[in-house]
Amino acid sequence: MKDERLTSENPMALEAAEQSASVTMPLITIDRLRMETDGDGVTTLIASKGCPLSCRYCINKKILSDAIPCRSVTPQELLDMVKIDDLYFRATNGGVVFGGGESLLHARFIRAFADIAPKEWVIWAETSLNVPEELLREALPAVDRWIIDIKDMNPEIYRAYTGLSNERVKENLRILAAEGRDADVLVRVPLIPGYNTEEDCRRSIDELTSIGKWYRYDPFPYVIREEAPAGKGETK
Ligand code: SF4
Repeated sequence: MKDERLTSENPMALEAAEQSASVTMPLITIDRLRMETDGDGVTTLIASKGCPLSCRYCINKKILSDAIPCRSVTPQELLDMVKIDDLYFRATNGGVVFGGGESLLHARFIRAFADIAPKEWVIWAETSLNVPEELLREALPAVDRWIIDIKDMNPEIYRAYTGLSNERVKENLRILAAEGRDADVLVRVPLIPGYNTEEDCRRSIDELTSIGKWYRYDPFPYVIREEAPAGKGETK
């Protein structure tokens, strides 16, 4: 499939191959044959290293730390690893989900991967969207569907939970809507024990609705394995 495209008569394919060879991603793990989880159909989750946020209940803290080894892969190497499920992807309208950490830190890699992957595969990105605008714009042509965990739209709640401002998140949401990509976005609006309430979630959805016509909202409670701090919200 790919080799047939690599001819001097197909300069775009050659350019994609060169790009593919020069960019790498720190791969933590691959999780195959996921059904209707983080995307439609059968998907393979690609977990990469690195995240700008410090979410209190992050379940990936250990794998994001420098102590955990990861493997540096090129897009072609990743394609070789995941193509075993090609038939499942095609039969179910599934594909590959780039997760993290923060997937968009590797926007250039995702783009290079999408250039060489079968066009029938659906490319998903799971992201907090708290990245510089350039990374979002780099990934835009490559990503078919988005799963965005906005945490909470209230700046104080967001900062208390993640340690950062959510200005970039809001700006990037506006960019997605302006580019007409809101219909490709599933927005997660979590109930975060100790940080927000169901009323806060409703306010977040109201604000989101004023920005774009998102494909789907996914309100759900974070399940935590530690005692939540005293504060807002319900503890589970
Ligand atoms: S955005 Fe995700 S990976 Fe990053 S700190 Fe928060 S929960 Fe962890």
